Amino acid sequence: MITAKETKNEKERLSLLESLKILDTQDEDVFDNITQLASEITNAPTALLSFVDKERQWFKSKVGIDICETQRKLSFCAHAIHSSEPLIVEDARVDDRFKDNPLVCDGPKVVFYAGFPLEILDGHRLGTLCIIDTKPRSLDDSQISMLKTLANQICQLLRLRSDLNNVSKFSLMMEEIQRLNLASTGDPFDFFPSFLSRGVDVLDLEYGIISHINDGIYHVVEVVGPDNQIEKGFEANIADTYCDQVIKKNKTIVFENVGEDEQMCAHPVYVNMKLESFIGTPIRVNNEIYGTLNYSSRIIKKRGFSKEEIRFVEILSQLISKKIEVWNALKEREKAFSELQGSLNEFQTLSELLPVGVFLTTEDGLARYQNRRWLEYAGMTKEEALGEGWIKAIYAEQRQEVGKKWAQAAANSKEFDLDIKFCNVKTGEITFTKTIATPLRNNDGQVYGHIGVNLDTTKQLEYEKSLRDATKSAQEASKAKSLFLANMSHEIRTPLNSIVGFSDLLSKADISNEYVEYASSLKSSSEVLLNLVNDILDISKIEASAISLDKRTFNLKDLLIEVMDIFTWPAKKKNISLSYSIEESLAHFFIGDSSRIMQILINLISNAIKFTDEGSILVKVQENTSADLPGNLIINVIDSGIGIPEDVKDNIFKAFDQGKKSTTREHGGTGLGLAITKELVELMGGSIHVKSREGIGSEFVISLALEVEKNQQAPLVQNEGPNKEEKLDASELKILLVDDAINNRNLIKVYLKNENATIIEAENGQEAFDLYKKENNFDIILMDLQMPIMDGFEAIEKIRDLERSENIGRASIIALTAYALKEDKERCFEIGCDEYLIKPVKKDGVIKLINKVLASKGE
Ligand code: ADP
Repeated sequence: MITAKETKNEKERLSLLESLKILDTQDEDVFDNITQLASEITNAPTALLSFVDKERQWFKSKVGIDICETQRKLSFCAHAIHSSEPLIVEDARVDDRFKDNPLVCDGPKVVFYAGFPLEILDGHRLGTLCIIDTKPRSLDDSQISMLKTLANQICQLLRLRSDLNNVSKFSLMMEEIQRLNLASTGDPFDFFPSFLSRGVDVLDLEYGIISHINDGIYHVVEVVGPDNQIEKGFEANIADTYCDQVIKKNKTIVFENVGEDEQMCAHPVYVNMKLESFIGTPIRVNNEIYGTLNYSSRIIKKRGFSKEEIRFVEILSQLISKKIEVWNALKEREKAFSELQGSLNEFQTLSELLPVGVFLTTEDGLARYQNRRWLEYAGMTKEEALGEGWIKAIYAEQRQEVGKKWAQAAANSKEFDLDIKFCNVKTGEITFTKTIATPLRNNDGQVYGHIGVNLDTTKQLEYEKSLRDATKSAQEASKAKSLFLANMSHEIRTPLNSIVGFSDLLSKADISNEYVEYASSLKSSSEVLLNLVNDILDISKIEASAISLDKRTFNLKDLLIEVMDIFTWPAKKKNISLSYSIEESLAHFFIGDSSRIMQILINLISNAIKFTDEGSILVKVQENTSADLPGNLIINVIDSGIGIPEDVKDNIFKAFDQGKKSTTREHGGTGLGLAITKELVELMGGSIHVKSREGIGSEFVISLALEVEKNQQAPLVQNEGPNKEEKLDASELKILLVDDAINNRNLIKVYLKNENATIIEAENGQEAFDLYKKENNFDIILMDLQMPIMDGFEAIEKIRDLERSENIGRASIIALTAYALKEDKERCFEIGCDEYLIKPVKKDGVIKLINKVLASKGE
C-alpha cells in the first residue's frame, strides 16, 4: 500500500479548509442531493463528499455508508487531491497503491473508486466528490463529465460559503472595531497595542505597526509581533520601508508574496526580515499624513487580502486617526485651559497686589470676584461680597442710587462711573472712592460681565478740603489785611483831614510873608502825605481786587487841561516846558472813570517832572491805529529826563519797585505809582509800556479802551476852574454836624464860617439821634461813620426808621468817612445816605456836595 504524500501547499491548504468552517458540521440537503445524484448517475452504491484534513478524511455528505470519517493514511481521496484531474481506480485489488489497503481487503471491500478533486482556489484542493463500488467497473465519458460538473457545483457552493464566512468575519471585525473604539478612552497610545493585536489576529499576520512619518523618517510608534525584531521607537528612512509605497500613492498597499517578485525581493525589508506579506494604509490626522498602519508576516498570503480585510485595516486606521485627532484636540484644549488658568492666576496675583479695589461681575451685574483691597474697604469676606452681597458695603444712604445706576450699566452693557462711599460693615469706617467699570467682551464682542476699579479718594478729598480751608483762611487773612488798611487809612486820614484842611485855609489866609511859606510847605507836605495814603489804599484795593470803575460821560480835552493845570506851576519851578497835543479828529466825549484816568495821567506826568531836570515834557493824545496795542486811544507821556536803564525797565511796573536804587535815594517815592497805573490801565482794557534811553529821556505809552459817547453834544457838569470860591446856594441852612473828633468839627465849622448856616454839633450817633428826635428840622446832617457809643451807620438807620414811623420829612444825610473802601460806600447808600465824602475833606468839596444834595432834593 502506498500512502499519499502531503500536498505541496499543505499548510495553506489546511488553513483554507479550516477557514471554510465546514469540518464537523451537520448534514446539509444541498450537499446530500449532489452526492445522491452522483450515486444515481453512476449507479454506484456509495457516493461521498470528502474533505482531506490533516490526519483524517471527513465526509460532509455520504450515500451508502454510515461512518463519517476514516484515517487519512488509508484515504483514496488523499491521493486524488494531488491532481486536478479525477482519480479513477477501476479495480483496487489489482492496483499496487491500494490492493493491501484495509479498506480494500477488510471492511467495506472497496474495489472501484472515482474521486473528483474539489479545487476551491488555484492548486488548493480540499477534498473530493467520490463514488465507490464493491465490484470492478468503469465510467463512460458522459458520467465523468456529469460528475465533474457536480464537483464544480460543490466548489461553487464552497466558495460561496467562504465568501459568506468572510462577510460574517468582516462583520465580526467591525464589531471588534466597535468594541475597541468604545473601550479606548483617554490616551489612545495606551490602546494602540490592543488595536494592533486584534488586527494581527483577524488578518492572521505576524506584525502590526503604527508608524509616524516626519521629514522622510519612518518612526515606529507602536508595534506588536511574535518577537522583538521590530521595536517601538525604531527609526528608518521611509524609502527603506514597505510604507514608502503607501505614502507615495497615499492609499492602501498590499504585498502577498514579496519573494516571488523579482524587483521586490531586493527590498531591504525583504532582505533583512523576509517579510512576504504586507498590508499598509495611511493614517491621516486632520487631513495630513501622520504615518501608517501596517501589518506584515513572513508567511505568504496565498489567498491574498480580501476586500473585507483591506476594509478592516482602513477602518482601523480611520479609528486611529480619529483617536489621535480627538486626543490632540483635548491636549490643545488642556493647554489653552492651563494657559488661561495661568493668565487668570497672573490677573489675580496682580489685582491682589494693587492698592485699588478691583472687581469682576457676571453679565447680570452679580459680583464674581473682588480683590483684597476691595474687601478691606468693605470689611467683608470673599464669600460675603459675592453675588449681591457687595451692596451691603455701600454707605446706606447711597445704596439705592448705586444699585440703580449699577443695574442700568449692567443691563445696557454700559460704562459705569460714580463716586461711591464705602462703609466698612465691621468698623463703620468710610472710604470715598471713584468707581469706574467697563464691559468685558468675548471674541465675538458679546458682553459677559464688567471689570471695575475703586480708587480710594479719601486722602484726596481731605487734601482738597484742607486746600479749601487754607484758601478760605487766606481769603480771611486778606480780608483782615484790607480791613486793617482801611482802619489805618481811617486813623491817618482823621488827623490828616484837619492838617490838610487847616493848611489849605492857612495858605489862603492873610498872613505875613514868613508864614505864607510855612503854610504852603505845610500844605504841600500834607498833600504828599495824603497821596501816599491814597496810594497805599489803592494798592491794597488792587490786591483785594476791590477796585471798580465808574462809567460817566466826560470831556477828554477838559480833563487833560485840568491835569496840565496842576503841573503848570511845578514845571515852571523846574524850568522845563510842559505841553500837550490832542488829535483834532478825536471825539470830545467819552464814557469811563475820569478820575482814574486823571490819576493815571497825574502819576505819569509827576514822574516825568520828577525825573527831568531840563528840557521838555510832552503829553500826546491820539487815536489808536496800531493793531499791536489794545483799545482805541493812545496817550504818550514823553520827557527828556534821566531815562530808565534797560535792566530795570521790566521791574518798574511792580509794586514797591523803584528801578535804580540811586534814583530812589535822590528822588524819593514809594514805587507804587506805576504799579497802580498799570493795573488801572489794564482794568480799562489797555496796556502800558515804556521806551527809554538813559540820559536821553523816557516815553510812556498807554493805550485805553474807552467807549465813545454817542451824543457828542452831551452837556457836562461844568468845570468851574480851581480858583472860583464855592458858596452855599441855600439862603439859610440848619446843619447837624456829627463827629467824635473836635478838630474835624472845628474844621467844618471854619469851612462854613462865612455861610448862612446854623450848625448844631453832636459827638456820637446816640447824641445825634436824640437831637434829631427832638428837633427834626435839619436840612443837612453831616455824619461821621466811626464814632464811639453809637456809630454813624446805626444812627443813620435809626433816623431813617424814625422818619418813616413818624412820617417826618426826609433829612439829607452826607456821610463823612475815612473809610475809603468800596464796600463802605455801598453800605452807606444802602442804609439811606444821600452822599458820601471821603476824608480828608476840603472846603470846596463840602460846599459843592451840600449844594448838590439840596439841588437834587428840590427836583
Ligand atoms: P516812585 O514813587 O518811586 O516814582 P513809580 O512806580 O512811579 O514809583 O516809579 C517806579 C520807578 O520807575 C521810579 O522809582 C523810577 O526809577 C522809574 N521811573 C518812573 N518814571 C520815570 C521817568 N519818567 N523817567 C525815569 N525813570 C522813571
